Amino acid sequence: MMKVAQCWDDGTATDARVVEILRKYKAKATFNLCPGVMEEKRIVPFWNSFSEEKSWSNKGFHCGRIGINELIDVYGDFQVASHCWKHESVGREANEVFFQAAMDARKFLEDIFQRECRGFAWPNGAHSPETERMLSNAGFRYGRTVENVNDVTLCDDPMHLAPTCHFMDGNFLQKYQDAKKTGVFYFWGHTYEMFEYDMFWKRYEEMIKFITEDTEAEWVDVIDLVPLCKGAGNISKKNI
Ligand SMILES: [Zn+2]
Repeated sequence: MMKVAQCWDDGTATDARVVEILRKYKAKATFNLCPGVMEEKRIVPFWNSFSEEKSWSNKGFHCGRIGINELIDVYGDFQVASHCWKHESVGREANEVFFQAAMDARKFLEDIFQRECRGFAWPNGAHSPETERMLSNAGFRYGRTVENVNDVTLCDDPMHLAPTCHFMDGNFLQKYQDAKKTGVFYFWGHTYEMFEYDMFWKRYEEMIKFITEDTEAEWVDVIDLVPLCKGAGNISKKNI
């Protein structure tokens, strides 16, 4: 039985639409959140390619944010993980500043959801041996990178856990079938990459339905992949 995991970065308003689909097909997912950029209420997405507006957009699509007041409603049935307080990343910040931001997001999420939050996704995919060690020593179980690999289980250290592919990978289905030989398929992305285009959302829903109905696959959370990694034992070595 192949284990299938997915995760989504940045906590944009479009996550709510993914959550509806996941609930419909009883699929699992992990959401990598930056609480420091969220506001009390949801910021609704809008299109504007031409204004001087400074807020970040994806090709003119300002993808909004899930509100702090709805965190449990939206994500309560799923896993949440730290993606730093305000998306601070290795190399752009001093390691200590980055580390504090990773911890602040985790603490905030643990308080809100009242459960442990040991997952991490590296903002901008940037990581280093030193910051891996810092997060591992602080109790994080894994750090997701963006370096796609054919066999997730060959990972020599879950602090740089590479997924199989991006959810819009042109060879998604082929990679899914190939991954059956390895026992793990793990995809990732940003829900805002589907904009508000129904054709993208329909494709995503078909993908989720296909996986749910596949008798050779089962949904797991990202953190469940950690013990399947070849280097899972490296965590304890780092803690010594
Ligand atoms: Zn991100």
